[in-house]
Amino acid sequence: MTTISVPVTRPATDGGLRVLDAWARVPDRPTPEERARRKARAAELLRAHDAVLVAHFYVDPDLQDLALETGGCVADSLEMARFGREHPARTLVVAGVRFMGETAKILSPEKRVLMPDLDATCSLDLGCPPDEFAAFCDAHPDRTVVVYANTSAAVKARADWMVTSSCALAIVEHLAARGEKLIWAPDRHLGAWIARETGADLLPWQGACVVHEEFRSAELEDLRRAHPDARVLVHPESPAGVVAQAHLVGSTSQLLREVVEGDAETYIVATDAGIFHRMEQLAPGKRLIAAPTSAPGAGCRSCTHCPWMAMNATQGVIDCLERGVNEIHVPEPVRSRALGCIDRMLDFVREHPEALLASRRAAPPAPDPY
Ligand code: SF4
Repeated sequence: MTTISVPVTRPATDGGLRVLDAWARVPDRPTPEERARRKARAAELLRAHDAVLVAHFYVDPDLQDLALETGGCVADSLEMARFGREHPARTLVVAGVRFMGETAKILSPEKRVLMPDLDATCSLDLGCPPDEFAAFCDAHPDRTVVVYANTSAAVKARADWMVTSSCALAIVEHLAARGEKLIWAPDRHLGAWIARETGADLLPWQGACVVHEEFRSAELEDLRRAHPDARVLVHPESPAGVVAQAHLVGSTSQLLREVVEGDAETYIVATDAGIFHRMEQLAPGKRLIAAPTSAPGAGCRSCTHCPWMAMNATQGVIDCLERGVNEIHVPEPVRSRALGCIDRMLDFVREHPEALLASRRAAPPAPDPY
């Protein structure tokens, strides 16, 4: 089994950033016949175990198709959480990264929650250790604590609100209108975008997503020159120079909806490449171009695919169901404390369904002529 090293940044005690050397496993590449065999076996096991597959947009296309073919879902983290809680199956198989499995367990403690690979994590989660984050919160007791879904159960247990990128803007706007000062964690780019859009008094943690941080603004400008009619769709975990060039800034679901419903023929997309599978299925005929991640001629270009999402494989679904391994446990009182901030978010989006449309549209400045 091959592993790769993934450098993850996190805040240092001197106020700067330090690098943590994380790792991810590289999945095998089965033949088409073997892929079909594994999908059939996984479908059989899901039925036999009264299980449903809840998959993220960024995981392997075979897993996305398997989820849809067997009555599961392919969604962003907010929809995954809601779907898992409401579905009657006794076992949830969560194909995504660890915090998604934990969120499912927090919301559905009576269900068995399994994952294809328990080592599939997230640089935002790794970059926000619970003890250090608790100390940060303790140092600012006058601030409401808002955390992104991409955090551990222990970090959520310390928070007042959890948000996802689908509803973060609306919830922070709501809190800012009440005059609340906020702590935001962990993604610094998403936090900076929300602060710019809402004017909220927001004290950010300094985490970053290893995928979105790689998008490059100068190269994006070049690409826009080459495709002047393309619409630029950007996930707000991207750097400010990339966000500033977007026609639409939004969550994965919001970007997907734009490709399906929008009237442009070509879209430049700055988010994980895993979303292209669903975009191509739902909007055949549209031209999709991945936003650039490094200068032409650079020795190495990022593949714009999360190394931990890539660890999810059909074989992992088979293994966890056949052998009952990779079960998620969230001990008390962490679970019930974390439930409070998740429920607050779910109640908010139930009462304010328009919150899920709160992506930002703009007419970005034309790229500079050469
Ligand atoms: S794409 Fe980024 S934010 Fe999403 S799971 Fe991977 S590292 Fe975390």
